[in-house]
Amino acid sequence: MSACASNGNPHVSLLTATDARAHVHLVIGSNPLAAARCTQSLSAGASPVLVAPGEAELHYALRKRVDDGEVKWLREPFRDEHLFALGREEIGHVVDAVFVTSGPREPLSIHISTLCKRHRIPVNVVDAPQLCTFALLSTHVDGPLQIGVTTNGRGCKLASRIRREVAAALPPNLGDACRRLGDARRRIQEEDHLLHAALAADGDDDDSVGQSAAFNRLVTEADLEAAKNRRMRWLSQICEYWPLKRLATITDDDVTDMLKSYEGLGNTGAPSASAESASASSPSSLSSSLPPPAPRIGRIILAGSGPGHPDLLTRATYRALRAADLVLADKLVPAGVLELVPRRTPVHIARKFPGNAEAAQEELLALALEAFQSGKTVLRLKQGDPYVYGRGGEEVAFFARHGARVADGRVVVLPGVTSALAAPLLAGIPPTQRDVADQILVCTGTGKKGRAPDPPEFVPGRTAVFLMALHRVGDLVRELTAHTEAEAGVAGDKPARALWPRDTSCAVVERASCPDQRVIRTTLDRVAEAVEQEGSRPPGLLVVGRACAFLHPLEKGRAWTVEDGFRGLDVGDELADGLWGPAA
Ligand code: SAH
Repeated sequence: MSACASNGNPHVSLLTATDARAHVHLVIGSNPLAAARCTQSLSAGASPVLVAPGEAELHYALRKRVDDGEVKWLREPFRDEHLFALGREEIGHVVDAVFVTSGPREPLSIHISTLCKRHRIPVNVVDAPQLCTFALLSTHVDGPLQIGVTTNGRGCKLASRIRREVAAALPPNLGDACRRLGDARRRIQEEDHLLHAALAADGDDDDSVGQSAAFNRLVTEADLEAAKNRRMRWLSQICEYWPLKRLATITDDDVTDMLKSYEGLGNTGAPSASAESASASSPSSLSSSLPPPAPRIGRIILAGSGPGHPDLLTRATYRALRAADLVLADKLVPAGVLELVPRRTPVHIARKFPGNAEAAQEELLALALEAFQSGKTVLRLKQGDPYVYGRGGEEVAFFARHGARVADGRVVVLPGVTSALAAPLLAGIPPTQRDVADQILVCTGTGKKGRAPDPPEFVPGRTAVFLMALHRVGDLVRELTAHTEAEAGVAGDKPARALWPRDTSCAVVERASCPDQRVIRTTLDRVAEAVEQEGSRPPGLLVVGRACAFLHPLEKGRAWTVEDGFRGLDVGDELADGLWGPAA
């Protein structure tokens, strides 16, 4: 392939879409690429024939396709006759296309390419643009919608990246919309065709039967043309002007409604009142023929608000906060975040207090569902990340049982910055640190119904982060540093749980990212005492492991240190503008 056309512009290919149903594709080779080619061929409805010697080791995916009878394997080395003998009968047994997977420098690749070119059989050789007469595109498939990208030999990885970005920019369900609009177009064409045929027949009958076309007298060619135009214009107008997002949500009912409004003409030949009233082709009558705006459909957005500071909200959650009709927040969601909710939006904060947690949760879920069912956008706002000890999974399952599903886009879950990671960072603790810690364990200090959870075992390179633990930190330390009675009672040769050394570094991080953030640095054997003396400032968590002392080693002789206050997240307006775009 030449890189440049004669006018200096880069060479471009003729992009075509081949209907390959029932075509015979010859795939030469047995490597994973041969498997990929067979898959592509099958997905286009063709019949791949694999040519590889009987002793070839087939890639397992290929082996499966052969075993399942999807791919025919001709167990012999390639021979020239294959090109002219294995194809469809109707085209004299010549194969429809050839895929060579053995690479550009193989003499066989060059030979097959030359032969195919001479006989005008489309040929593709892996990594050898000069040996190909066609290239495969990087494709995105969504139902009948296919998008293909080529960089014309400049790199398939780049093409694949571009294709992914293009696809990601499209609204979901666009393939469905293509199918629906395609069906509508076909129905309009078919009905018009039938009507024309009926009219023509009526014309013939007039003399022979002696009956005039009284039933259809109102329908003239001009009427028909007008109706056809209107329906087709409806289609082309929405295809041109509706935002893609709206187009992607078009329903079968939208299409049926539109077709119905021209029913009289389409079925009986007598124009219905609605069709007559819409017969003028002025823009206003056109817009009146668009389906009425879809009724508002509710949505539930389950989002995490981060550890506290409003700047740690994600942009997605911030947008949800501004767009919601109702905000249902957990008790821990900080005031700074709630202040961002527009004044017009009602905010309900969970009335959770000890002993009432279940009832409060049920109340919140019922409110969410009710608002959702009346077509509202509900923001269910949680603290930190919604899936980290936030009962987020339970809520999504509950909504699904009541007809609001993630798969239908009715429920959206947005991640949040979890305190489990943000709090250590804001306390100057890198929970993974080369040669110090190579794993992070996030766990709870409180089990279901207030019971103690199983204590995690000591691993030297582990940083353990305990949420919901500070109110029972004394018990927790005991569990980490000594075997429980139950464990002691277990007889036999089961290896005992490794215990955390009592001098392991740890830190209590409270109200991370809030103005009154506080960090207590100490060791396991003194932490309970420190918390008791300093008092608690919830919410807070406990970080345990060598990583705690990496940037902030405890001064010799000190049992603990306390750092009060939060340095803020200010990165300077200039940098902030660069990151977020100028402030609105
Ligand atoms: N979904 C939340 C956790 C909910 S459980 C998240 O991802 O962060 C509540 C526990 O989170 C609290 O008991 C406390 O241990 C911890 N926590 C929440 N916010 C915190 C903060 N700002 N600083 C320290 N710990 C916090």
